[in-house]
Amino acid sequence: MAEKHFKYVIVGGGVSAGYAAKEFAAQGLNAGELAIISKEAVAPYERPALSKAYLFPESPARLPGFHVCVGSGGERQLPEWYTQKGIELILNTEIVKADLASKTLTSAAGATFKYDVLLIATGSAVIRLTDFGVQGADAKNIFYLREVDDADKLYEVIKSKTNGKAVIVGGGYIGLELSAVLKMNNMDVTMVYPEPWCMPRLFTAEIANFYEGYYTKKGVNIIKGTVAVGFDSDANGEVKTVKLKDGRVLDADIVVVGVGGRPLTALFKGQVEEEKGGLKTDTFFKTSVPNVYAVGDVATFPMKLYNEMRRVEHVDHARKSAEQAVKAIKAAEEGKTTAEYDYLPYFYSRSFDLSWQFYGDNVGETVLFGDNDPASTTHKFGTYWIKDGKVIGAFFESGTPEENKALAKVARAQPLVENVDQLTTEGIMFACKI
Ligand SMILES: Cc1cc2nc3c(=O)[nH]c(=O)nc-3n(C[C@H](O)[C@H](O)[C@H](O)COP(=O)(O)OP(=O)(O)OC[C@H]3O[C@@H](n4cnc5c(N)ncnc54)[C@H](O)[C@@H]3O)c2cc1C
Repeated sequence: MAEKHFKYVIVGGGVSAGYAAKEFAAQGLNAGELAIISKEAVAPYERPALSKAYLFPESPARLPGFHVCVGSGGERQLPEWYTQKGIELILNTEIVKADLASKTLTSAAGATFKYDVLLIATGSAVIRLTDFGVQGADAKNIFYLREVDDADKLYEVIKSKTNGKAVIVGGGYIGLELSAVLKMNNMDVTMVYPEPWCMPRLFTAEIANFYEGYYTKKGVNIIKGTVAVGFDSDANGEVKTVKLKDGRVLDADIVVVGVGGRPLTALFKGQVEEEKGGLKTDTFFKTSVPNVYAVGDVATFPMKLYNEMRRVEHVDHARKSAEQAVKAIKAAEEGKTTAEYDYLPYFYSRSFDLSWQFYGDNVGETVLFGDNDPASTTHKFGTYWIKDGKVIGAFFESGTPEENKALAKVARAQPLVENVDQLTTEGIMFACKI
């Protein structure tokens, strides 16, 4: 099989790959220097759309509407954009072997690609219930959501099961967003998760109380403190019931599982130094191997603000780490260096008519402000996290653009708090004054 050589190769064609391509083009690129090799059949797109507008009952989002970089207000990079920039998009191509010593990648079809500089942007894969041998978990109509193909299959079945029953396994981002969008599709939705409240990795009990109350008001059933231990299917192999550990059995026409992801690092095992489950990088996203960079979900990088190595599975970091790596690659070519990556964690989610943002770190003591009653008309409430007397994290629901900007500012500035009651009474105004 033919062998191709490129100066730069990006393995993976998701969010980071798209934003890296944008930065390469901005920095100056000769035709034929850069290739993106992706397992997916489409050019890089804004992945968060898949669990939101992609599944709306009316006017759902579809490609090419949400190719990168529309999510950050940038140019929409259609497949033609890559051609015009002389970037080779090699789609439907899975890399199955990476030999970093010889700078060679091999595809499932046996093609080989050589590179001078490699950018690893393989993202994450979903954790499947079949990985743990859960009984019946390979039944039809049990879905996971990572790529546009998964969303297409789910959408088709949602349309064919009008007014049907959906069980959502998991109470994190995917669980909450999918429960909402399936409810909007008029399904009878039940969420099941083992924790005492939803999204415990970020939410406090008080924050979760609002969302659980709001979802219940919208008609979503919530079952906490137990897990799915098995599935039964009909003669067609389609899922029919979900068995819970506490003995309950739920009817189901569709099951969506959102129990987390794993960074796709297996190709590089034993070749690149790892830390905290990801590929260890420096502040320029350079790995332990010369000329090999890792960005997005797979990278464990120095989080300067907290003086700690961290891995972040969020779109904002995927975009920014990609830009940082390309800046560093280009600077190194000129014998220069670029500024250190100084990332402020930023997470968000949207469901129903709700929308929250979070900036900073969610450790320490918490202070709730505003009205977190699910029956409130404004839905405006939030939480500050305080550590060593300083505000270091801020969460707000239904913020205006100005209020959300203030959240970022307060989490970055880390002001000292003299009086905790002041945070409760001033609420979002405390952040707006920074
Ligand atoms: C449904 C969904 C909703 C989300 N919503 C939000 C949200 O609201 N807010 C938020 O902050 N974050 C959200 N995220 C997380 C965010 O999308 C990811 O953090 C981000 O996409 C990571 O970018 P990445 O480039 O590292 O990986 P990805 O965007 O996942 O891209 C990885 C790419 O690499 C390809 N690939 C992997 N292995 C190979 C291989 N061996 N050969 C070739 N190609 C390969 C994959 O097919 C994929 O195209 C969501 C994620 C999902 C799945």
